[in-house]
Amino acid sequence: MEGKAKKNYLVFARKYRPQRFEEIIGQEHIARSLRNAISNRRIAHAYLFAGARGIGKTSTARILAKALNCLNGPTPDPCQKCVFCREITQGISMDVIEIDAASNRGIEEIRSLRENVKFAPAQGRFKIYIVDEVHMLTPEAFNALLKTLEEPPGHIKFIFATTQPERIPTTILSRCQRFDFRRISTQKIVEQLERISREEKVEVEEGALFAIARFAEGSMRDAESILDQVVSFGEGKIKEEDVHLLLGTIGQDCLFEFTQTIVEKEIEKGLSILDRIIKEGKEIEQFMKELSEHFRNLIIAKEGLFNLIELSEERKSGIVEQSKRFSLSELFYILTAISHTRQMIRTCLDKRVWLEFFFLKMVNRDSFLSLEEILKRLRTLKGEEGAGGDKEKVSEEKEREVKKDEIKKDKDCFLGELKEIWKECVEDVGKERMSLATFLEKGKLLSVEGSKAKIGFPADFSFYYQNLQREENRRIVEKVISRRLNREAKVEFLLMEEKESSKSESLPSSVKKAMEIFGGKILK
Ligand SMILES: [Zn+2]
Repeated sequence: MEGKAKKNYLVFARKYRPQRFEEIIGQEHIARSLRNAISNRRIAHAYLFAGARGIGKTSTARILAKALNCLNGPTPDPCQKCVFCREITQGISMDVIEIDAASNRGIEEIRSLRENVKFAPAQGRFKIYIVDEVHMLTPEAFNALLKTLEEPPGHIKFIFATTQPERIPTTILSRCQRFDFRRISTQKIVEQLERISREEKVEVEEGALFAIARFAEGSMRDAESILDQVVSFGEGKIKEEDVHLLLGTIGQDCLFEFTQTIVEKEIEKGLSILDRIIKEGKEIEQFMKELSEHFRNLIIAKEGLFNLIELSEERKSGIVEQSKRFSLSELFYILTAISHTRQMIRTCLDKRVWLEFFFLKMVNRDSFLSLEEILKRLRTLKGEEGAGGDKEKVSEEKEREVKKDEIKKDKDCFLGELKEIWKECVEDVGKERMSLATFLEKGKLLSVEGSKAKIGFPADFSFYYQNLQREENRRIVEKVISRRLNREAKVEFLLMEEKESSKSESLPSSVKKAMEIFGGKILK
């Protein structure tokens, strides 16, 4: 059986390998760019094809090689008939050298590459090196390659393919034209598998094709090889079950059935399904993975986004029906529980216990859900309280800020006002008592505090300060200011510290800063 499968696999892989740009599935953007480049004769020296395995990188490389070396080329539509095209299709062209960088031989080939690139192609237009898994090259091999890439002979073309472009040195990357290959959609893979089944005249259930395509996760080559194996080992019409048996997957029937036991709260039936899965030797992780996808589909269906469900039409309508049995919050609750259970299963030894615990919790979801609901409400209530308190705090603080601002404004206003009329005040004081004006002139209006103005005197003028400090003199000053401002004002005279005095004003700012920091004083 295995021998047959292997033979079939080879046949399928070769038989359905795309031979022209139009046949490349799922990479239309790349095929278009390459066709245009060839039509416009803008062919790069080196290409990098990056992307997951089995999505058409090597096939595209061979088609590109054909397009370059076809007798009628370079042409976006290689004839497929000339000797060059045929040899490339058969993989026997002397001028298209395929190197597997992951193999020992590959590394040797790269080593000898520097010598070999000097020679002109045997027959074709170009000598084309297709290097697969190029990220596997050793640093020495990359160096050898780089030397060739730096000064590529005109007859040499490189096509590198890799699943891990991040492992390629930037010196190489910068010399390549890069194309990123996409994973192929489940739908497109199913279509291709249908085509192959038709050609091969084998009957395959649609569900089986979807099961294969989903399992392949975007890789056409994987999907084709699975189909190969299923075809070689099945008899008659191939059913979805056959695929699940081969792949160890759970399958839609089982997922629907199990989910239904959650809907109906059928504990015994649900537990027996789980028992069956385990007895069949299926992995609990695989089951939970597929169950997760199933509930994801149910949510998507609930949201009405049917085209995002990668299932056959028949299954899709089944999903829509089943989704009606759950509320959206139930679905979210279950999906969250699945995610949590998957984490537990990954790390715990008692996988079965966690699986059954999950099921029982889902069956009893009403009590858990209402408990969650109560907790949520409690949290919301608490949150509201907290938020309310915060809000109050914030507004209080804001109010204080405003008040502070207002006071500051007032202060600024008073100080400003006073500064404006200060000269007149001094003159007025002089009219009252000449000597006082002389004293006051040396003072500096420092700040205001309430209705009190603070006037500072340099230490040198302590005599003036002391004079003004006297009750009757201070009263005169206050009277004059009050009259000028048309409201009551007080004054306070201060003897200023050394650093505040005019002496420090002439100092460089750096010294002032240092004095501020160290609290220093200038010595006379
Ligand atoms: Zn040709």
